Amino acid sequence: MKSKIAIIDSDENSLQLAKKALTQAGYSVNLYPEPAEVLSRLRDWQPDLIFLELVLPGITGFSLLKELKSQESLKKAKVFIFSAKNYASDRKLTCELGADGFFEKPFTEEQLLEKVEQIMGGRMKIRFWGTRGSIPSPGESTLKYGGNTPCVEVRLSNEELLVFDAGTGIRELGNFLLNKRNNWQGHIFLSHPHWDHIQGLPFFRPAYIPGNEFIILGAAHPQVSLEKIIADQMETIYFPINVHYFSADVSFKSLGEGSYKIGGAQIDTMFINHPGLALSYKINWGNSSMVYMTDNELGMANGGNLRKRIVEFVSQANVLIHDAQYDDDEYKIKRGWGHSTWSQALQLAMEARVERLVLFHHDPDHDDQKIDAFLAACQQEAKNNGASLEIIAAQEGMEILL
Ligand SMILES: [Zn+2]
Ligand SMILES: [Zn+2]
Repeated sequence: MKSKIAIIDSDENSLQLAKKALTQAGYSVNLYPEPAEVLSRLRDWQPDLIFLELVLPGITGFSLLKELKSQESLKKAKVFIFSAKNYASDRKLTCELGADGFFEKPFTEEQLLEKVEQIMGGRMKIRFWGTRGSIPSPGESTLKYGGNTPCVEVRLSNEELLVFDAGTGIRELGNFLLNKRNNWQGHIFLSHPHWDHIQGLPFFRPAYIPGNEFIILGAAHPQVSLEKIIADQMETIYFPINVHYFSADVSFKSLGEGSYKIGGAQIDTMFINHPGLALSYKINWGNSSMVYMTDNELGMANGGNLRKRIVEFVSQANVLIHDAQYDDDEYKIKRGWGHSTWSQALQLAMEARVERLVLFHHDPDHDDQKIDAFLAACQQEAKNNGASLEIIAAQEGMEILL
């Protein structure tokens, strides 16, 4: 049975649009244009999801939200604010009062349906903004897979923004976000501070807007703090403005190996096989999991129990994004450079029984045709092994919905 959705809003246009879209999709919908007695009516009906407008006659959406969240009998219902009143302070307050997310008005039928599907499924959307390893490689020969260095956006259905790595792709992500609105909060997870994973950060425009909040997370160097690692690349000799020009509230949190609750998701971390300290991240959200594991040399991960631990970490992930920079011939020359081949990534994916493998961190000297060939060879090899997993090669702009 499809979910029950309650909508508390005095705006007749929004109500009718929402009702039409949701009932056509099979949801059971009740409308509450009058906030009076809404609590007892909701208690009787037991909705799974409540959309609440902040601007209501006779009562503020904030106080109604507080009351909704204090009702033991409505504990299972998710409450999403949907409002054109979209100030950062208001969004923050609704979050503090326990709202599960914010959905901006005006919306189209399609946008509303997509949002509801995401919320009820506990879904996440993965979007690739940079897929290239080592150094940007723009030009005609890389148009298909893209030339920007690593940046992967994950949007949870509660609207949390999680970003993995701040290569040059994060500049485009920043512009995309600001085209939607100015106010943003998010977490930026760094795998490690090699150039290609941090170089886009000074060009991430949302970090220069007062009121925005970003937490940058990653492993500190044993002798250098995470903040200093990031600040140093913006030192006068290397860059015209320093890290203090970030007008947003930008803070740093160093991570080790462990399990963290961030943005409502469970994020597990593991140190992988790369010169220096590099972290892999596993995001568990709803029933889905994604592993971001780049700059990992599987070919030299056989010592001790590292290989075994990597397999366990990745085990049964819905999506594994993994370094697949070389083929076996190139690896003979580049052994010890900290990267993997597509066949090693495939071997790991099969062993760990993941559903979908995404070949990532493409070599800057590989053109689209070469990556096409890697992908085809990898798919053939999986077939030869009788493996049913799906294999794709990361492309800039590509989206995966989990
Ligand atoms: Zn890299
Ligand atoms: Zn690296």
